[in-house]
Amino acid sequence: MLNYLYVTIWGVSTVLNEQEYKKMIKSCLRCSICKWIPQLQIKSQKYATICPSIDMFNFHAYSGGGRIILALALEMGRLKPSKELTEIVYKCTECGGCAVACKFLNTLEPLEIIVKLREKLVSLGYGPMPTQQQYIESIKNNNNPYNEAHEKRFDWLPNDIKTDPNSKVLYFVGCTSSYRRKEIAVATARILNAANYPFKILRENEFCCGSPILRTGDKESFLNQVDKNLDIIDKKGIETVVFSCAGCYDTFKVDYPLERKYNFKVLHTTELFNELIDTSKLELNNQVPYNVTYHDPCHLGRNSEPYEEWDGDELKMMPLVSINIPAKPKRCGNYGIYDSPRKLIEKIRGIDFIEMERIKEYAYCCGAGGGVKAAFPEFALNTAKTRIEEAEDTGAEIITSACPFCSSNLKDGINAKSSDLRFLDISELVLMALGSPNKSSIASSMEVS
Ligand code: SF4
Ligand code: SF4
Repeated sequence: MLNYLYVTIWGVSTVLNEQEYKKMIKSCLRCSICKWIPQLQIKSQKYATICPSIDMFNFHAYSGGGRIILALALEMGRLKPSKELTEIVYKCTECGGCAVACKFLNTLEPLEIIVKLREKLVSLGYGPMPTQQQYIESIKNNNNPYNEAHEKRFDWLPNDIKTDPNSKVLYFVGCTSSYRRKEIAVATARILNAANYPFKILRENEFCCGSPILRTGDKESFLNQVDKNLDIIDKKGIETVVFSCAGCYDTFKVDYPLERKYNFKVLHTTELFNELIDTSKLELNNQVPYNVTYHDPCHLGRNSEPYEEWDGDELKMMPLVSINIPAKPKRCGNYGIYDSPRKLIEKIRGIDFIEMERIKEYAYCCGAGGGVKAAFPEFALNTAKTRIEEAEDTGAEIITSACPFCSSNLKDGINAKSSDLRFLDISELVLMALGSPNKSSIASSMEVS
């Protein structure tokens, strides 16, 4: 028996290296579990699926497992890179639903394989999609993906908001709140002011976090954004960075440290607001008498679980069977941010909180991520409509979330369905509960969502 045992040293590992990628794409079981919520978590047939891509395109290649087969075929030369192949690989929101579903039983990393497959298509000259390339150029030229002037980045900031240039706490606003969902930036700043919590913003020294680039597989351009942001944050001696955007938060928390270490703490606003309430710095005295449901952003939930370093060996039992010693940690989404937003909602008086069927690590994506909103708007909208229908089925009047990008797409879904549901970011709900003088303007914004 011992003749068949030998040990391969893999060294410290975080994300997939080339060797792991080549091995992993051969080990998909073709079981299709990645299309579904794990069986014990399913509450109804209507909301049993987890992959927006297979739901929309209904062919195996559009699932997590299907894309692994494409990766293998490409690697073995059985499939040539093409426009058609590229479209299939990019018609994926990189929501990570397949990854948590697969790892319920397995040790595969479908999301990481999809990310690496996109990097390979970029290196072969096929990716990203043309509209994604346009926003990448805009990030390079204007520091935001929306083709907006960089000097307008802090136009959202009202004159009466107090910022403190000497604070060691930075509010990193992000592109979407700066240019498209300004109400989230304003609500966040007003809440911090109400708590007398000093913070600074970087104004013209804040640049796109790079998430929209990273998700398309253009790693090299992403690294520029990492350096640009970390150079300035390091120089300013920042100790804590606060985010109201799930995408920026995830990118700083999970992806930046893989490229460059930093010494500050990262917090999502839902974590900070809870802390401020628990230490009596914020008092939520106003009633907010609505039935509310909550959408878990993929980047705040399952995808914000950090990588754990693993320094182990692979023990080969037989040519095709091996085990890791010690067991390699699985990134299953268990340690995403799920409790903070829920605790926050439950602290607001008058709210009747109702959960959707697919929540936490098994939440259904809003449909916007992975560059899909730019490249395949119909797919993004269709997924948003599906998620809005799930929210409507709870009987809620308001759907809330904690990400400006989810906010934009879910609002589009509400409008496309002519739904009675209204969307408010969680910071807007907190601001209403504070009895802010701007409560009436928020309430009227609900009418036009
Ligand atoms: S990716 Fe995982 S869940 Fe999907 S078919 Fe392969 S082994 Fe099964
Ligand atoms: S990342 Fe999301 S959209 Fe892409 S294959 Fe996995 S579950 Fe489907």
